Formats: sequence, structure tokens, C-alpha cells
Amino acid sequence: MDGKGLAERVRAEVKEEVAALGRPVGLATVLVGDDQASAIYVRRKREACAEVGIESFHHELGAGTSEEELLGLVADLNADERVTGILVQLPLPGQIDEDRVIQAIDPVKDVDGFHPSNAGLLFQGQPTLVAATPSGIMAILAAYDVPLQGARALVIGRSNIVGKPIALLLLAEHATVTIAHSRTRGLDALAREADVLVAAVGRADTVTKDMVKPGATVIDVGINRVDGKLAGDVSPAVEEVAGLMTPVPGGVGPMTIASLLRNTVKAARYQSGALAFPGA
Ligand code: NDP
Repeated sequence: MDGKGLAERVRAEVKEEVAALGRPVGLATVLVGDDQASAIYVRRKREACAEVGIESFHHELGAGTSEEELLGLVADLNADERVTGILVQLPLPGQIDEDRVIQAIDPVKDVDGFHPSNAGLLFQGQPTLVAATPSGIMAILAAYDVPLQGARALVIGRSNIVGKPIALLLLAEHATVTIAHSRTRGLDALAREADVLVAAVGRADTVTKDMVKPGATVIDVGINRVDGKLAGDVSPAVEEVAGLMTPVPGGVGPMTIASLLRNTVKAARYQSGALAFPGA
């Protein structure tokens, strides 16, 4: 499944939407500390913003930044009308309570969809600003007409960022969803029953060829470094049995960024009143 190609099409659509919006759209990105992977992700997000006409306001804070300092910046960004979306790149250094920071972001600017208000609305079946990775996965499944109604879906991973929200989105599309995690017993057997399998673990080769039902759709969210090379959570040999599969790189990653752009435009619409925001 070509996430890269699909993301290009989404970016082109977003570019037209931004131009048609008639008001500036601005994404504030906040990078705390010197995590290299985080720096790369934020750079890619800013580049994507520039491509579609979203202004980016970037803030880089040192690894020793206090929670109060970061909360102060978030308060400023909440109040800044030029900033229609706020993204605080995770993970944050250990002295900062991530939950407190996420809760401080104005829900209507929460383009990551991590604020309890937006996560709660998703839980209640009223998706607003939904986390970008699960949104991107749903867009890939829709683009490839993957049947979800009544399908058995297995999500491996239960993080707030990927595992839980993708499970809820699949459930909303009437899949029968199982969530597996590090304490799950009999993962192989569960995986073999899945028509749709989403791996969001962070460990290469978590899903091997013998675990996948022939013809199943496999979504590989993982980003791992193996011998200096990028690898997903799914063994490349799974391609031989899967009906459809996302590559790493070029699958979920580009669609995550494209979905972030979509959320940023949606947030701007909420703020202009063009869309009603149920989280207000
Ligand atoms: P987390 O570390 O927050 O969650 C990982 C999950 O995997 C946990 O629920 C954990 O279980 C579970 N797990 C760990 N080991 C096993 C195992 N052996 N068997 C079954 N389950 C296991 O990671 P994230 O959800 O944030 O990210 C997952 C992966 O996706 C990472 O590689 C990350 O880099 C990547 N990612 C990629 C994105 C993209 O754009 N492509 C975006 C976001 C993430 P437990 O809860 O019990 O600990």
C-alpha cells in the first residue's frame, strides 16, 4: 500500500483547502531537548507545512527546560491568533509531566488529538481532532477499499498515540477489534485470525510470516533501526502472504504527516466558526 503516493495526493488537497480558506493557517511546533528522531520528525512536519501554505512557528527548548517554562510557552501559543495548531513533540524530557503539558493545550488547537477532551470525544464516537497516525491508517484503509464491517481486526500495541485510537476508529467502522500488548498470551493465534492487523509495537519482527492469515491486510506502524537501516514491526517476508501491506518507510509515516496537515486545517475551521467544535 503506497502511503507515500496517497500522502502526496492528500497534501495537494490540503494545499487547495488552505488557499480557499481565506485566513492564515499556522502550526506551532515545539521541540524540547535533543532527541534526534524527534528533531527529524519535526523538520519533516515543518517542511510539509511549507509545501501546503501553512505557516510554521518553531520553538526549540533545551533539554533542561522546566515544566513551568514549557507550560508558559503553551499558554502563549494558546493565546496567539496566528497559531491555529499546536504540536508539542513527544517524548519530553523526564522532568516534564507529558500529561500536564497535553492538558494545557487548547483542545481546539490540539492538532495531535492527544488532549483528554479530543480523546474523550473519539471514545464517545464523535471524532474531532483525531491523532494523526491512526487517522492516516484509516485513510490508507479507505483508499484501498479494505472491508472493515464485521472484519476481525487485531491491534498490537495500546498506546494513547496509536494503539487505543486506531482500535476505536476500527470499532467505529464495525470491525471486531482485539487489542494485544506485552502481556498478551497467544499472540500468534490471535494474529492468525485477523483480517486486518495493525502492528504498533516498536520492535522489529514482532509479526512474522507464520502469524499472518493469507490475504490479510497488514499495517506496519513501527519505526525501528536495525543495523543502521529503517525497519517496521513486521518482517518483510509477510508480504508473501498478506493481501495488502504498508511498507516501512513509505507507508504509515507519510500519511501521519498528511493527516497532521489535515487536522491543522480542520482546527483553523473550528476556530473561524466554519465548523462547530463539540469540544468547546
Ligand atoms: P509505545 O512504546 O507507547 O507502545 C508500544 C506498545 O507495544 C505497548 O502497548 C506495548 O505493550 C506493546 N508491546 C511491546 N512489546 C510487545 C510484544 N512483545 N508483544 C505485544 N505487544 C508489545 O509505542 P507507540 O505506540 O508510541 O509506537 C509504536 C511504534 O510505532 C514505535 O516503533 C514508534 O516509533 C512507531 N510510530 C510510528 C509513527 C509513524 O508515523 N509511522 C507514529 C507513532 C509511532 P505494554 O502496553 O504492555 O507495554
